[in-house]
Amino acid sequence: MIKRSIVSTTTRIRCCFSLQRRNSSSSSSSSSWNSRLRLLAKEGHFLESLHLYRTMLLSGHSPDRFTFPFAIKSCAALSLPLSGAQIHCHVIKTGCLFDPFAQTSLISILLVCYNALISGFTLNSRPLEALALFRRMRRTGIPFTVVTMLSLIPSCALPMLLGSGMSLHAYNIKFGTDVDASVENCLLTMYAKCGSVGYYVLMSNIYVEAGNLDGVARIQGMVRERRLKKEPGCSYVEHKERIHLFLAGDRLHPQAKDIYRMLDGLEDSVKALNALKDGNGDTNNGSGEGDDIVMAMGVHSEKLAIVFGLLNTKAGEEIVVIKNLRVCGDCHWFIKSITKIVNRAIIVRDATHFHHFEDGVCSCNDYW
Ligand SMILES: [Zn+2]
Ligand SMILES: [Zn+2]
Repeated sequence: MIKRSIVSTTTRIRCCFSLQRRNSSSSSSSSSWNSRLRLLAKEGHFLESLHLYRTMLLSGHSPDRFTFPFAIKSCAALSLPLSGAQIHCHVIKTGCLFDPFAQTSLISILLVCYNALISGFTLNSRPLEALALFRRMRRTGIPFTVVTMLSLIPSCALPMLLGSGMSLHAYNIKFGTDVDASVENCLLTMYAKCGSVGYYVLMSNIYVEAGNLDGVARIQGMVRERRLKKEPGCSYVEHKERIHLFLAGDRLHPQAKDIYRMLDGLEDSVKALNALKDGNGDTNNGSGEGDDIVMAMGVHSEKLAIVFGLLNTKAGEEIVVIKNLRVCGDCHWFIKSITKIVNRAIIVRDATHFHHFEDGVCSCNDYW
């Protein structure tokens, strides 16, 4: 009910914002409008202040350099970029564009617009556009806020964008927004989603590099507080109404011998295939969350589950593997290659994505 009335009111405000051509305003009456506007905006009655602005225009009074900051501040506070844009036009029409009061307040509404756009790109998995917009925002000289960072940082939560995420972190340290608890959590989630096992170490290193010892101490506190424990990586595959679970380096499965033999063969074929393709077998260097330490101990669990699937299914049957953590770059590359070698489609659902591997490519386009 309240929501609807606000919507209808703001719609009315938007429709009614037009500069009247009558020139009936005297400076004394303008100042009385302005002081009422200022009072409403200062006390946080933004909707009322926009109503008053509209009434002022309807009654033929022209806004001036003292009117705009309060009207624009109200639009920014209510996140009404369209109304803000209309008032921006009024600022231009009344020749106040170069007035420092009007300019400062226009920045606040531009900030609202940028934040809304960045958040839109992030939510729609368009990280590159979100980052480009942020760069443009900085070039235009619009200062960012915690809200900007909360909209932007999640867009870097991809292994390939870890570098951009780290630059954002450094940026936050430079401008002091990193001490905000929500920004800090957001950064931490980003590092975790990038598949970086050592995200606390990474964060702490960034603080060390910036010579920010408070930051280092904060991260150490977080580690103690959360008593970090790594979840071991495991994958499973369903076969004949039974679940076959594999841990990294697992040798307990009854078919372990066959699985490792086939895996060895596949590893050789993959190496040969890629050596043929580009002269070396270099892999994408993303790392699996929680899996890195066990890597020294053995093969990642998804490889074992996939090979089990290949051993126990016929051509044309789909292989579906579920993994509790994110697939690492090496396994992702390996799975892509084997779909070409064995000519089978493989589906891996990891902690965050569905990967449909077929004919040497993955549906995630290597963004996961
Ligand atoms: Zn892996
Ligand atoms: Zn993928």
